Formats: sequence, C-alpha cells, structure tokens
Amino acid sequence: MDNIIEIKDLSFSYKDSEGKLHPALHNINLNFERGTYTAVLGHNGSGKSTLAKLINMVLTREDGEIEGSVTVCGKEVTGDISDEDAYNIQCRIGMVHQNPDNQIVATTVEEDIAFGPENLGVDPVEIRKTVTEMLKAVGMEGHEKSAPHRLSGGQKQRIAVAGVLAMHPECIIFDESTAMLDPEGREAIMRTIDELHRRGDVTIITITHYMNEATDADRVVVLNQGSVYMDGTPEQIFSQVEKLHSVSLDVPQVTELFWRLKKAGKYNGELPLHTNEGAEALASLLKVKRD
Ligand code: ADP
Ligand code: MG
Repeated sequence: MDNIIEIKDLSFSYKDSEGKLHPALHNINLNFERGTYTAVLGHNGSGKSTLAKLINMVLTREDGEIEGSVTVCGKEVTGDISDEDAYNIQCRIGMVHQNPDNQIVATTVEEDIAFGPENLGVDPVEIRKTVTEMLKAVGMEGHEKSAPHRLSGGQKQRIAVAGVLAMHPECIIFDESTAMLDPEGREAIMRTIDELHRRGDVTIITITHYMNEATDADRVVVLNQGSVYMDGTPEQIFSQVEKLHSVSLDVPQVTELFWRLKKAGKYNGELPLHTNEGAEALASLLKVKRD
C-alpha cells in the first residue's frame, strides 16, 4: 500500500509562553493512502486543525511537545528535517484554510494564483498557462484580472483552491474551508473537491463539521478529545448513530430520519446517507403500505 501520510503513536501538547504544556492529541495512529478522499470529523477543540498543522509542518517541535511520528511522502516531518526538505514537503501538501480573506496575497486573481509557482521559480509562460487552467478547474474561468477582495466568499475560496492547485500538490487538506461560506459557495467548493477526487491523482483530506460533506468521502475519521474515536467508510460510521450521538455529533438528517423510523419499528432496511437514497427508501415504504 502506498501511504502518502503515516502517523504513528502521535501525541502533541502545545507549549505556552510560560512553558506549560496543553495536551491536544493523544496516541494517534492513522495512515492516508495515496489518491484517497478522507473526511475528518469532530467537535470544536477535538484536535483536527492540530493534526493538519503537524502534517504540513505549520506546527513543529518549537510549538510544543511531540511524541511519535508523522511521515509525509517518505520523510519524517516530526524529526530533524532540513529546510530544503521541509519546503519541498510544504509544496507537496497544500492546505486551504477556513477564512478565504487570510489566504489572498495579491491584488489580482492572476497574481494571487501565480504567487506559489513564482516562488518555485516556474517559467512565467508556464505560469500563465497554469493560472488559466486552474481557474477553469475551480469554475472561475475569465477572472484573471478580477480583484480578489471584490469577489464573494465562495469565489475567494475557489481562488484559494486554484492557488493551491497551481503548486500541483500531491495532497490537499481543506480545514473547514466551507465553514464561512453560504450554501452556494459551499456547494461550489464541494463540487471542486469531488472533481479533484474523480481525477484520481490527488489525496484529499477534508476537515469539516458538516455531516453531509463527509458522506461523499471514501473514509471518515472521527476525532474526539484528541483521539481517534471512529475510523471507517461513511456507511460504517453513520450507521452507528448512537455512538455519534453519545459524543454530541450528528448524522446526516436523512440518516437520522430513517434511524428514528427504524427505532419505531417502521423501517428495517439500510440507513440512507444521501437524500436520493432516502427518497427511494421512502417510496418503497409507501408502496408496501398501499399494497
Ligand atoms: P479543532 O480544529 O478540532 O477545533 P484544535 O486542533 O484547534 O481543534 O484544538 C485542539 C486542542 O488544542 C483544543 O483543546 C485547543 O484549545 C487547543 N489549542 C489549539 N491551539 C492552541 C494553541 N495555540 N495553544 C494552546 N492550545 C491550543
Ligand atoms: Mg480547527
């Protein structure tokens, strides 16, 4: 198996200015296979961002105490690592954050997307081609000369995704990237993620607290209080409604509905995760009633 990320017995505590330790992650073991799409779920404070920041080296030994290891593209990023290797890894692991405003670095969309590849010393003609191509990939073609700060939140976030894509990363981590968007913007980002996944060459990790965003992933990892609480396919995870409820996490609404019907003895099929499956299940329930 080709793992792009391997996390072994990882614990992390933040160190404050007085040197006091604040534990955030406890004994995490997780591998991410190349080309897969994983959703990471969990409450506020469960350690999702901490995990993401350790993967792409935003957090290092200078920020706290690390036990265990994180290995990315075959390099242990939690150990001694040269500046060159660190830079190299950060280029290969892209990250899209929650607030699109914090990710804009230039006054035109074109310059903004070109910023990363320029730093890598890519040929300007090549960069122009990449910018056009990436704008197309996120459904923002023709916006080269637009001013990023005048775009909507959803459009800004798509520009941020295009900027990450322009680096041709092997893995992209979306850290609550849809949290500040309206439903339309959220939908557009989800479509972009789906498209990337379908192309099959990029490993995707989405951190979210929207259950509906997790149902399309290959795998769902649930964090709770800094530990891995559940890890499985969306079907395996969301069928354990009580286990999720016990840590105050929801399941998709359509799943919740059929789970309640099941508990009331009015349904005994599989719990649907998507609205269309729910509609089908409902249609057959109604049909049985009529017959
Ligand atoms: P999530 O992204 O799931 O909301 P975080 O990874 O941000 O969770 O936080 C995990 C834990 O680490 C929380 O208890 C949080 O309060 C703590 N934490 C986050 N950032 C810092 C920091 N810079 N210093 C100290 N503690 C922090
Ligand atoms: Mg977070």
